[in-house]
Amino acid sequence: SKEYSRAYWEKLGADLQIEGRHFINGAFVASVSGESFVRPRPMDGKPGTALARGTAADIDLAVKAARASFESGVWRHKEPLERKKIMLKWAELIRSNGEELAMLETLDVGKPVMASLTVDVRLCADGIQYYAEMIDKMYDEIAPTGPKARALVRKVPLGVIGAITPWNYPMIIDGWKLGPALAAGNSVVLKPAEQSSLSALKLAALAKEAGLPDGVFNVVVGYGEETGKPLALHMDVDMIAFTGSTEVGKLIMGYAAQSNLKRVALELGGKSPIIVFDDADLDAAASAAAWGCFYNSGETCHASTRLIVHRSIQDKLVEKIREVTAGITLNHPFEPDAAIGALIEEGHMKKVLGMIADGEKEGARRAFGAERALSETGGFYVSPGVFVDATNDMRIARQEIFGPVLVSIPFETEEEALKIANDTIYGLAGAVFTTNMDRAHRVSEAIHAGTVWVNTYDMSNFATPFGGFKQSGFGRDRSVHAVDKYCDYKTIWQQFN
Ligand code: NAD
Repeated sequence: SKEYSRAYWEKLGADLQIEGRHFINGAFVASVSGESFVRPRPMDGKPGTALARGTAADIDLAVKAARASFESGVWRHKEPLERKKIMLKWAELIRSNGEELAMLETLDVGKPVMASLTVDVRLCADGIQYYAEMIDKMYDEIAPTGPKARALVRKVPLGVIGAITPWNYPMIIDGWKLGPALAAGNSVVLKPAEQSSLSALKLAALAKEAGLPDGVFNVVVGYGEETGKPLALHMDVDMIAFTGSTEVGKLIMGYAAQSNLKRVALELGGKSPIIVFDDADLDAAASAAAWGCFYNSGETCHASTRLIVHRSIQDKLVEKIREVTAGITLNHPFEPDAAIGALIEEGHMKKVLGMIADGEKEGARRAFGAERALSETGGFYVSPGVFVDATNDMRIARQEIFGPVLVSIPFETEEEALKIANDTIYGLAGAVFTTNMDRAHRVSEAIHAGTVWVNTYDMSNFATPFGGFKQSGFGRDRSVHAVDKYCDYKTIWQQFN
């Protein structure tokens, strides 16, 4: 097998022709304003690729192209089998261009390039394939109306979908939206996060190569206020599929209400609990807590950020977490041993370090880690770390840190553990570790979250819906159910003599 050395990735990065312009109506185009912007690369702070700086004018062009492609029927009225073939080809192209896509993701986000290749590229391709395979297996219904009439209950595409996505797993989340939206026959305008546009632009070029008609999938690059907002306010967009912070999610609902009552689906933040009882397998719990919180440098919406642990085992468990963490190598993302890499940008790193300082001020004890690291690289790195003896009212226990910081909160009784677990505005995910199966059942039912794991963390696949309760949003990505939100029901009556 190939040797993926740092030198290999450096050469690939240097040789790449990187596209930073919008992709509208099947072609790369500069901004109407002619403006562009550059941001520092998380891995070393050096300037990244110049990106088109989108405004409402670019959004308008993209929405017009999407609308025209939808109205013409060039995609939605194509034979289902043909649409399936195009999307399957697209999934194959994503795989065969995997190294380039992985490089783009890592240049933007700073995550280890091997993780980008083996996780992000793979899951993006798998997502597109999953929905491709559904295209010629979706049936409509005939309502029970009696012999003198027929009522067809059709599931029809909504029209133009605006997708607004975050920077932590850009390619995976783009796939979560594009797969079902396109499978249902819609046209899409994607606005990736300003920090992570490159993989989206490459995905668009590959979609065209696979045969997706022009205008069906457009990408407009730019800042949230300058491009995301006009997309969400646009009168000719039928739905916004959003993944990002709860704060911006609330704005998106407002924009929908202020404009055309477009539908919205919101995948938002989390502060997920992992409850560990004193009868648990502590090695398994330590591994799940460490990887669940530190993978992707903690920049994961469903990260296991609150360790709710029986007081009698807190010290022992944290010691085991320290041992697991010693094996999670923080390094430059091109280094083959890097398990985690840089945080997204300097401002975010400062916010994470600020929250760590707050945790100490509020009286939690830092057991290890949670410090600025690898500063000689010029990049934005923070080492994984754990706070112990925290209480659930501390800022580090209430707010998303979105960095590699695990907060341990001790409890005495099951009732108290559940109370702490559910005392959050979020409801994205949670976990319980115990060898008592009655308790596992009780607690997993009682954790108020869209996904709960028992004696494991972060298991997932495309067959399972993913999304939140409470202020973690609504609407589900993944699984056959994800298609529903990109469709509406339409009833067609016919009367017979
Ligand atoms: P963010 O909310 O700052 O940005 C998300 C997207 O919204 C970006 O594309 C951004 O440009 C855009 N945006 C910002 N302001 C906007 C505005 N006023 N109008 C329209 N669009 C606007 O989030 P982020 O920092 O990119 O991502 C991190 C957040 O995403 C975290 O809160 C995390 O929990 C959440 N997240 C959730 C899931 C999930 O599935 N639930 C998955 C990943 C990330």
